[in-house]
Amino acid sequence: MKAVELTQELVRMQTVNPVNPERPCAERVGKLLQEAGFAVSLHEFAPGRTSVVERREGPGPALCLAGHLDTVPLGAVPWKQEPFGGEISSGLLYGRGSSDMKSGIAAMVQAAIELEDAIFKKAGLVLLLVAGEETGCEGASHLARTPGALGTAGAMIIGEPTGNVPVIGHKGALWLRARTRGVTAHGSMPQMGDNAVIKAARAVLALADWRFDAKPDSLLGGPTLNIGNFHGGLNINSVPDEAVIGIDIRTIPAVRHAELRKAIQERLGPDVELTALVDLPGIRTSEDDAFVHAVSDAVSAATGERHAPAAATYFTDASVLTPAYGGIPTVVLGPGEMALCHQTDEHCRVGRIEQAVAAYVEIARSWCGA
Ligand SMILES: [Zn+2]
Repeated sequence: MKAVELTQELVRMQTVNPVNPERPCAERVGKLLQEAGFAVSLHEFAPGRTSVVERREGPGPALCLAGHLDTVPLGAVPWKQEPFGGEISSGLLYGRGSSDMKSGIAAMVQAAIELEDAIFKKAGLVLLLVAGEETGCEGASHLARTPGALGTAGAMIIGEPTGNVPVIGHKGALWLRARTRGVTAHGSMPQMGDNAVIKAARAVLALADWRFDAKPDSLLGGPTLNIGNFHGGLNINSVPDEAVIGIDIRTIPAVRHAELRKAIQERLGPDVELTALVDLPGIRTSEDDAFVHAVSDAVSAATGERHAPAAATYFTDASVLTPAYGGIPTVVLGPGEMALCHQTDEHCRVGRIEQAVAAYVEIARSWCGA
């Protein structure tokens, strides 16, 4: 089984989150790695929502290769290519999940299989192929909560789409729902009520002036804050008794989410109730880290290209897994195309899949001493 064919096979196994559970896909890759000598365990955060952990021990903390099995839905626009066909045309492999990130999963599995006969003199190798990433890292969070599921690791590759460019940081996300409450009254007698929309409007204006004190990161830039939505009131002739705003904050690792949330609460005052909808920290590995150098060398050997380490705008399972492993060096590196995630007619370059296998094998050889 080669990585390109495995990508086609995985694209044909629909894992649209949440309607097509990941279990068949998890069992398939689990079986392949079991045959290659890995100890395999399955973990479900809900029926059929299966993550798979595959491990080969070595003397030191393992290299972790991680990715997600689920995909986003197709969207409203019809596809020109069969979305679950895995067809190849002009060197491009089409289908939902081809870039994000079944090509990355397939390349990781193939790399692990190619090391079947290698002896790991320095460290072990673990693959974490998780369910439920697209709806907020549910599979990874479940593994992190399950005693013993993750084991230990000393460095990690996340196979999300980067076009095989090493990405050493991404922002975090803190999505807050802010709710204000009031007292309803007839619209002709507003003095009898307490207007929740006006309280929410004051909160929005306070947030519009929000300044972060964190020093911008050289790759990630500074944190940002956007008010994404605002709902309040039921009809024009009543005093609204409730309003809700959605706040989308993208952070850098220097921003501690708990402290930020406390500061926002203090600014908005006790009349505004804050609830976190998503709370995932950013990650950032130093350009000078030895693992980053090893990854860059492996990538340039595999692709003939050398890139300065980059940063990504999306968040990944690393937000959960990197802290769960004690803040290990983490690089996002995968064959998919970053710009094609979640798009109609999503595809992946076939040549990049083979390059990713070669890079992963080289990274593992260097880390595991194989
Ligand atoms: Zn993804």
